[in-house]
Amino acid sequence: MTTELYIDGQFCAPAAGGSFPAIDPATEQEFAQVAAGQAEDIDRAVRAARKAFDSGVWSGLPAAARAATLRRIAQGIRDRVDEIAALETRDNGKPLPEARWDIEDAAFCFDYYAGLAEAAEARGDTPVDVGDARFESRIRREPVGVVGAITPWNFPMLMAVWKVAPALAAGCTIVLKPSELCSMSCVELARVIDAAGVPAGVFNLVTGTGPEAGAPLTDHPLLDKIAFTGSVPTGRKVMRAASQGIRTVSLELGGKSPFIIFADCDVEKAVEWILFGIFWNKGEVCSATSRILVERSLYPRLLDRLKQATEAITIGAGDEPGVKLGPIVAKSQYDKILGFLDRAKTSGARIVTGGGRPKGFDKGYYIAPTVYADVPLDAEIWREEIFGPVVSVNPFDTEAEAIALANDSPYGLAGAVMSDDLARCYRVAVKLRAGIIWINCSQPTFTQAPWGGFKSSGIGRELGQAGYDSYLETKQITRFDHRQSWGWYLDAEASQ
Ligand code: NDP
Repeated sequence: MTTELYIDGQFCAPAAGGSFPAIDPATEQEFAQVAAGQAEDIDRAVRAARKAFDSGVWSGLPAAARAATLRRIAQGIRDRVDEIAALETRDNGKPLPEARWDIEDAAFCFDYYAGLAEAAEARGDTPVDVGDARFESRIRREPVGVVGAITPWNFPMLMAVWKVAPALAAGCTIVLKPSELCSMSCVELARVIDAAGVPAGVFNLVTGTGPEAGAPLTDHPLLDKIAFTGSVPTGRKVMRAASQGIRTVSLELGGKSPFIIFADCDVEKAVEWILFGIFWNKGEVCSATSRILVERSLYPRLLDRLKQATEAITIGAGDEPGVKLGPIVAKSQYDKILGFLDRAKTSGARIVTGGGRPKGFDKGYYIAPTVYADVPLDAEIWREEIFGPVVSVNPFDTEAEAIALANDSPYGLAGAVMSDDLARCYRVAVKLRAGIIWINCSQPTFTQAPWGGFKSSGIGRELGQAGYDSYLETKQITRFDHRQSWGWYLDAEASQ
């Protein structure tokens, strides 16, 4: 089976033909061929999106009509949740229950932004008092225009929907380029969108590689905005491309998020959230809490329990019942993680458990869940995003030291703190330089709350009202009371 592109309301092959394999990371076997779109296909898709936007076929609809279509998309996803979740697991390797969460969240995201579009239209323009009674001024929000969206492989459908749903709700048109490593669920998203009756050209999908499809998309002169999720080096290239056309850009990049654990907390609860914070989705999570800071009096006991609980994690193919840790997405990412583990051997860090391929697995890109302790603060595993099931744990003595260590990173996507003392938790939350702070948990993510980072973790926010607003331009409309005279040239002349 070879997938197709979706351009201007039609499923089609790339102009130059060509495809690449979709690989199941649990078996290392190819299970489909993915259409390899290139610059010519991107150009056709962007032109279709431009034409659809400029015609007003979508942006000119009342919000209620757009919202009704978005709700049909939500229902279309829900109707196929089992099938799409199974495909996501096969493509990415994540455990099936986690894939189901993603797909259900994707459906909810369309419903949520349908509601925000209706609420925005009901509110209407916002009046502004300009301090001069001869003027009436108002602020109007309008769709930003044609959006180019480039998304990663860790939550393949959900990361796309975090962009597609608010963009469509706001009245934009969009060209989506998913990661070449996991494109399959986005092809299904295109089918659902097509079946929901979205007008031709409003949503377009071009699968392909970063250099051959992603770069031509970011360079395209007819785009108004680029929305990107991925690595810092690619984010830098995307921003450079956006600067050529002075286009709006939103970047959701990586992280090396800290989790501060105070000695007054329950060890079982701390271990549960440490495990979820780093081993959920195999640690392929931009907000993973991969640096753990534990108050010294709890440190030995916590490490013992963490080792025991980590070694009890069930590893296997994502579709096997009870599995909590699937294979790494692809050989390239697997080799990258093994490189980190290899270099860690001489870093001075103490290995607590894991550190390579788990026993009994001779096929599939499996990495044992790995814990390091007493990690030097300049070690690569403490400073750099690994994007795998690898966590580093260090002790601290004071609250101030914990905050300083937590903030000592170029990243600022997320952070977490755990203590029975809620006043202390909020005090720490305020001092952490990151866009998302969890108290007494790590990772729960809500469509209604803004998502994005400080520092090198990115620019802008997705989700929530902020995620909707990021697909809008702001326009002021100011009216002068024409019964009055302005009196600068003509009236001034008359009075001379
Ligand atoms: P990339 O940043 O390379 O890829 C993200 C997206 O950008 C993909 O769709 C990719 O396509 C595309 N892309 C690649 N090169 C270009 C380009 N020159 N112009 C435009 N688009 C491009 O991330 P990777 O998938 O390689 O992952 C590498 C690392 O990035 C991970 O180890 C992790 O650290 C981080 N990452 C962070 C994520 C997050 O959520 N913040 C998500 C994923 C990764 P293609 O896949 O075809 O290369």
